[in-house]
Amino acid sequence: MKPQVESNNLKEFNERTFADEVEFQDKDILCIDCGQDFVWSVGEQVFFRDKGLTNPPKRCKACKQAKNERLAAITAAQAAGVKQRIEVAVHCAKCHSYTTVPFYPSQGRPVFCRSCYLEKHPNLINGNAID
Ligand SMILES: [Zn+2]
Ligand SMILES: [Zn+2]
Repeated sequence: MKPQVESNNLKEFNERTFADEVEFQDKDILCIDCGQDFVWSVGEQVFFRDKGLTNPPKRCKACKQAKNERLAAITAAQAAGVKQRIEVAVHCAKCHSYTTVPFYPSQGRPVFCRSCYLEKHPNLINGNAID
């Protein structure tokens, strides 16, 4: 199932963001990891444009750094032949509680905490389908 509304919003957002070549303004963006607004500064927007990047950042600086550190740790673990469990901090789409999931959620796709997930999939409670 495709998150139709989200991708349309993102497209619109990109068009609005990149339509105007001259007047950059600081923009508030919602971080997909921590769910907090962060400022995408004019300087960073110009940097993005100069790099030819067409998508605005998805994460605040702290989360971006955390993600890079996780990826580096995973890469290092893989190089060493160790299996690494990833843990990504997210806010549950239903109860908004803070939880962690063992995968990188797709943008625009809701992520649920364990109890909300089980509420939606009660047949999994006795199974091992999770984890
Ligand atoms: Zn963040
Ligand atoms: Zn929940």
